[in-house]
Amino acid sequence: MAGDGFYGYRCEYCDAGHVRREIRGREIIRVTKTNYVILEDVPIGVCDHCHARYYTAAVIKHAERLHEKGTARKVQVPVGRYVAAG
Ligand SMILES: [Zn+2]
Repeated sequence: MAGDGFYGYRCEYCDAGHVRREIRGREIIRVTKTNYVILEDVPIGVCDHCHARYYTAAVIKHAERLHEKGTARKVQVPVGRYVAAG
């Protein structure tokens, strides 16, 4: 969803909650199929019912720019599928 016109509006996923503005200390944003960027202190929209997340076009663009520049500090994150023991 573009712009930031979703704050205060009804959630388009569950149609029950409303989208509230929150500042997240760390938010993981997907920029390509296999690449993610962690943005810090970022304002996002969160549904107060189903907790769906909404990002403004400016936030997504910022994450994409960080990814493309490749100069941001990085953390390595192991990825593995959960398999129940026993
Ligand atoms: Zn919702």
